[in-house]
Amino acid sequence: MNKAIFIDKDGTLIKDVPYNVNPALIDFEEYAFESLYLLQQKGYYVIIVSNQPGIALGYFKEDELKGVEEKIKNSLLQNKVNLNGFYYCPHAPADNCNCRKPRPGMFFKAAKDLEIDLSKSWMIGDILNDVEAGRISDCKTILIDNGNETEWIWSRQRIPHFIAHNLKAASEIIMLNAS
Ligand SMILES: [Zn+2]
Repeated sequence: MNKAIFIDKDGTLIKDVPYNVNPALIDFEEYAFESLYLLQQKGYYVIIVSNQPGIALGYFKEDELKGVEEKIKNSLLQNKVNLNGFYYCPHAPADNCNCRKPRPGMFFKAAKDLEIDLSKSWMIGDILNDVEAGRISDCKTILIDNGNETEWIWSRQRIPHFIAHNLKAASEIIMLNAS
């Protein structure tokens, strides 16, 4: 069985530009490359899990997301990080699907596709919906407290295991707590 770092895309791995599908506007968050490199050296898969309601809402076409995936994949590769999975939910909130975070569908699909032990895996995100999806999936969770969460609606499942200021701190937490 494999173990993974599940990471949110917009606002966690790359700077959030709402509904952007222009590869030229993709800008990685601070410490993204070195942090994921170190974690991958420790044997973790790197998997993006992203809500993309812009597809269902008609802001962009599903095909256009391919360019985003390619750009992220290539940028990571140039920094010696292999992207093992890119999962996204194309639905709108009203669709009530099982893949849109805070629901765990993307995690379960990745676990099946890539033989991942979710209990040895981590979710890193910038809002509590990421935390909840990670916890429901039995992952350890880290909230990056970069100001992107604004609602702070709490429940047991939405309490992060750890809080980190940036991806460097998150990777250090994982290294110290990895099983
Ligand atoms: Zn969905």
